[in-house]
Amino acid sequence: MTVVLNPATEEEIAEIPGASVEDADLIVQAARRAFPAWRAIAPADRARLLRRLAGLVEEHGEELALLETRNVGKPIQDSRGEVAMVAEVFYFYAGAVDKHHGETIPVAGGVDLTFREPLGVVGLIVPWNFPIAIASWKLGPALACGNTVVLKPAELTPLTAVRLGELALEAGIPVGVLNVLPGSGSVVGQRLVEHPDVAKIGFTGSTEVGRSVMAGAAGTIKRVTLELGGKSANIVFADADLEAAAASAPVAVFGNAGQDCCARSRILVERSAYDRFVELLVEASGEVRVGDPEDAATQMGPLISADHREKVSSYADDNVVFRGNAPSDRGFWFPCTLVEATNEDRVAREEVFGPVAALIPFEDEDDAVRIANDTPYGLSGSIWTRDGAQALRVARAVETGVLSVNSNTSVRVATPFGGFKQSGFGRELGMHAMDGYSEVKNVYIATGE
Ligand code: NDP
Repeated sequence: MTVVLNPATEEEIAEIPGASVEDADLIVQAARRAFPAWRAIAPADRARLLRRLAGLVEEHGEELALLETRNVGKPIQDSRGEVAMVAEVFYFYAGAVDKHHGETIPVAGGVDLTFREPLGVVGLIVPWNFPIAIASWKLGPALACGNTVVLKPAELTPLTAVRLGELALEAGIPVGVLNVLPGSGSVVGQRLVEHPDVAKIGFTGSTEVGRSVMAGAAGTIKRVTLELGGKSANIVFADADLEAAAASAPVAVFGNAGQDCCARSRILVERSAYDRFVELLVEASGEVRVGDPEDAATQMGPLISADHREKVSSYADDNVVFRGNAPSDRGFWFPCTLVEATNEDRVAREEVFGPVAALIPFEDEDDAVRIANDTPYGLSGSIWTRDGAQALRVARAVETGVLSVNSNTSVRVATPFGGFKQSGFGRELGMHAMDGYSEVKNVYIATGE
């Protein structure tokens, strides 16, 4: 049995039986049995079932949001937004079912057709920081393409995944199509990665575990999509709207208590504007409301666990220019923290995954790009400037999968999301995700012409 805690109160909120390797094998078998019928279902019917699931997520939105908040410690307003996005994701992929198709290609002597074929059973392994949201990013395209799935939530945060599985059955999605397998990563996660009947792993998590997923998948030449860690740069040029950039920067790194792969945890500021920007940023950081995640006014909750808090605190001792307030009684709290650093310091090189940002000055455009790229990661980032040409030059030069200009957002349902370098490969969301859950089959028909 795994005991599930509320990280804001340390109260036990559930007990979940951890699945065994034998359970994993039974679930993969069930998914395998369900595959032929799910693949063959009329596209309009598959779309209708996904739309029904989206509708049920909306109907149960408040319940799912509260479950997520209690399990992850994230502010209820964030959970509401994420659950609304889950419904939007299922609506989007319901619409994608019959819009992701093959081509006819002109060739000599016949006709050449391509088909988009589902892969079979896919394993979806997700982390604890955005449990239901990240699950939906994988489930939507995987199911829309005609695959059956085994979803393995993180051991710390299985609750919304289990509820989503129930809602899928209520929506009429056939038994065996969407399976939920709570359990430990090193036991059932690993089994999915190595299982000969699992055709693909869609994984989100740390770069370290991503490496072992890639290695484990090699034995069966399994397809993998990896969404891994990040150390993204928030680049602020001196000509930017400094007030807007400073007002937005705290959410970009303290949102979800910094437990966000897209966190802009390196704040790069042009030296001539550095002092003014830091003054504005400290003021804005002091306004972040930290406290009870179930209060609609709260902007930052606790970290996920005591162990994780210990790890985060090891990055927040030196050159601190700001430390906010946080509750000090029960719960895994940690305050918003700004530290001055160079890009060589540990806080600027490693993914902290907590509310700690490194402030780094730069000299000019080339220096900004050099520092931004001097990291093994390449997931996200922002550029703040009023110079449109500069924004485009820097956007092209920064080695990262997702960038925003004069904004700190990273994720939109219709647009591709994913990393460069050691932040992983493959794309989630938008129509790009459909490519990752299907194979292209090429059929040539000789016509005697
Ligand atoms: P982990 O990599 O530890 O875990 C992610 C998932 O993988 C969990 O479900 C975990 O199971 C499972 N897992 C662990 N070991 C194995 C294994 N050997 N084989 C198969 N599966 C395994 O990451 P965290 O859950 O700690 O999440 C935090 C990390 O995720 C951060 O580094 C963050 O950057 C990254 N992340 C990346 C995102 C992206 O899109 N790029 C988005 C969100 C997070 P269990 O925990 O149950 O043991």
